[in-house]
Amino acid sequence: MRELIILVVVAMAIVSPVMAVSANFGVSGDGGDLSVSNRFSLTRDDYADSETSLGRNVVSSSLSSVGLASGSIGGPGKTFSASTSGGQLSSSMSASPGMTQGSAQISGSGIQAEIVTQDNYVYGEVDEGAKMSLKAQGTNDVLQASAAVDGMPVLDTVLSPVGDDAGVSSEGLFAAENSIGSYNIFAVSGSPSFISAKKHRAEMRLVGGSPNSYILNRYRFNTKDPKVKVSLTNNYYLTSIGLNAQEVKKAIERSGETWDAASRQNLFADYDMVTLNPYGRSGWIKDGTNTVSWTMFPRRYSGALAGVTTWYARPRVGGFYSVREFDISFNSRYPWTTTGQYGIDVQTVATHEFGHPLGLADLYNRRIYREDGQQIMNSYDDAQRTLGNGDIAGLKRLYG
Ligand SMILES: [Zn+2]
Repeated sequence: MRELIILVVVAMAIVSPVMAVSANFGVSGDGGDLSVSNRFSLTRDDYADSETSLGRNVVSSSLSSVGLASGSIGGPGKTFSASTSGGQLSSSMSASPGMTQGSAQISGSGIQAEIVTQDNYVYGEVDEGAKMSLKAQGTNDVLQASAAVDGMPVLDTVLSPVGDDAGVSSEGLFAAENSIGSYNIFAVSGSPSFISAKKHRAEMRLVGGSPNSYILNRYRFNTKDPKVKVSLTNNYYLTSIGLNAQEVKKAIERSGETWDAASRQNLFADYDMVTLNPYGRSGWIKDGTNTVSWTMFPRRYSGALAGVTTWYARPRVGGFYSVREFDISFNSRYPWTTTGQYGIDVQTVATHEFGHPLGLADLYNRRIYREDGQQIMNSYDDAQRTLGNGDIAGLKRLYG
């Protein structure tokens, strides 16, 4: 039996200064069980290279490009795909009936990659010029996924659709060339869930922006009046950059109160919401405690400013998974401030990051919301300690 039945090599480079090319091609296995397709839309100076091997019940493909490109391989209920617009993509993927695996490295703006198998879903997106790498390997029983932004590991997880754990999400900020960018990566075990993005025209003239500018996550706190508490790691990394632990505690409590005031539920504890712990951990570690910490991110990952990891589990209530824990980590390499002046405002970033485990997603990567800078769930550009109309409307959908 011949192992390889098809080998396709495509290389395109556009030389004409005025020409743009769109290409769309695919091949599929003899039984139609596995297939590969690639799409390119290339303009001057763009290029795409693709190589595909299709064997009996196995397919592998690699794709690298500059310009608008997407590639996918897979069979029924099992695909790997990666796409980019205005960025660079390099990916490799392979699939066989029992296993799908893929990796993608992407950079640029408005870039995303996703990996879907029968029971698992991994998704990543970044804006404003970070580099992201995403790896996933899935069988029908286990999903292993990892991701890095500008080289920094932000997600590393093993999920099983038969266990309790439903998924994990990692969201954060990084320093881009002239601004602050964001990333959003998640892995879900079990059938792909939803992101509720309401399509509409955002109204920018209102004070507080549009009440339609929100996106719901797939999870929230499902206990009524959850009275969330956090542990603030009061260690060297916090004090060495001139922050005062008591002032940080107050800033974080104000962030919690800001959300509390917009909801009829008691979302954050009114007393002892923040406990100072000099021996607490730093970073994103699943240990049953909601931790807020400063830590010195390794120099080679120094683009990362802050991030939150949220772990959620079954059951789903009203369509939403149940948040079990979240950890927020700030990079002590950056100038943080509790006064709102001369640095990145702790209260603003904490309010944004709290929004994620509460159930709100970033807005920056959706074109219709991106200009509505009055929402706290949009990108950071300056101190903003109030919620926008969309933040409030989204919170009311989740908690009344
Ligand atoms: Zn965010």
